[in-house]
Amino acid sequence: MTSAQIASHSRTIRAKAEALLAKRSMWARGEARVNGALIGVVLFSSSRNTKIVYMTMVTGAGCSCPASQKSASGRCCHRLACALACELAQNAEPQYDYSDEFGLVDIA
Ligand SMILES: [Zn+2]
Repeated sequence: MTSAQIASHSRTIRAKAEALLAKRSMWARGEARVNGALIGVVLFSSSRNTKIVYMTMVTGAGCSCPASQKSASGRCCHRLACALACELAQNAEPQYDYSDEFGLVDIA
């Protein structure tokens, strides 16, 4: 997601997405079957009613919350947070290099 795409979201959505992103280590994740295919999802509780849970595609491609479902753009803070989390994960350095522990060498 480019900075222009991020900036195209409202200030409120960006602020909420940043708050969600800061807590991404605590996100509840799972899988859901959509049109016969299993997809990764993140579950977010409603800020107004904690008994309501919204399901957001882990890539940010879609969300079941009212903001996303009712707006013409489909944008919501959950989708933006998931898209940003994907980018952070893709750009992250590997956490651990197993080659040292197992004495692996490049034999090519
Ligand atoms: Zn949403």
